[in-house]
Amino acid sequence: MSEGWSEVQRRRLQELEADADALARRFQDAEQRNRAFQQLERQLARRRRADLQEFLTRRLRPRLALLQGRLEEALNALGFSQMVTPTLISRGDLARMSIGRDHAFSEQVFWVDSRRCLRPMLAPNLYRLMRHLARLQPGPVRIFEVGSCFRRETGGARHTSEFTMLNLVEMRVPEERRRQRLEELAAAVMQAAGIEDYRLETETSEIYGRTTDVVAGPDGLEVASCAMGPHPLDGAWGIVDSWVGLGFGLERLLMVREGGTSIGRWCRSHAYLDGIRLTL
Ligand code: ATP
Ligand code: MG
Repeated sequence: MSEGWSEVQRRRLQELEADADALARRFQDAEQRNRAFQQLERQLARRRRADLQEFLTRRLRPRLALLQGRLEEALNALGFSQMVTPTLISRGDLARMSIGRDHAFSEQVFWVDSRRCLRPMLAPNLYRLMRHLARLQPGPVRIFEVGSCFRRETGGARHTSEFTMLNLVEMRVPEERRRQRLEELAAAVMQAAGIEDYRLETETSEIYGRTTDVVAGPDGLEVASCAMGPHPLDGAWGIVDSWVGLGFGLERLLMVREGGTSIGRWCRSHAYLDGIRLTL
């Protein structure tokens, strides 16, 4: 029993959501394997057509949109207001994030003209709002946004060039309570996302300095990075208050919750519909 699936066969079976047992099958020779492939492919394609039918007639909303809705409701219930800000941001705002021309991250930015780029993160726009709201609103300020962010990426199965970020910020958290508040907010988001298996890990980020990541699932996938202020970037935005902020990738949350190895199923796409491959 020496023959496993060929690379092309394996990829196709993964697209069609074959389980781990099916992917691990071994065969006596290529002929036996190819016969088994044809049979399994037909069977899986039939199941995926049934899934598609179910989506088009009953479920109707993709899991990415449902997750977004659930997170928005959970955050509203905690007193966070939703922000809707521009997808295009200025070179100056990126520089205020410390991402100048010579910063390694600037390679990952999609420029639309000499002055503007597609936002690689939500933080610059939220920083601008924080400054206004800190002035206009006494006491805690709680805001969030969910929206597309864009990065040139080379890394395959966990990265896409367009992904959906949830960024939430709470200002004026007493400094000694920040860590605890960060843990509470991470727990609230993970619960709303339906993921129990996660932990917090401390990392060093090029932009934010020390960050705490939320990693989840059996492979310890990073689903969020979190930061706290006062922070070295705050001065450039006129922020003096303390804050905690968490940035989650929604497609990563779906990857962990739904299982599977590729983020491609969950991102904005015309090859997949709610995780279902359309070449059936
Ligand atoms: P990674 O180290 O995995 O490339 P990152 O640390 O550069 O991610 P952050 O800037 O911390 O990413 O962004 C916050 C969250 O956004 C990440 O934890 C992840 O869930 C998500 N995210 C970032 N980049 C991508 C991407 N290219 N595709 C999908 N999700 C992403
Ligand atoms: Mg990170």
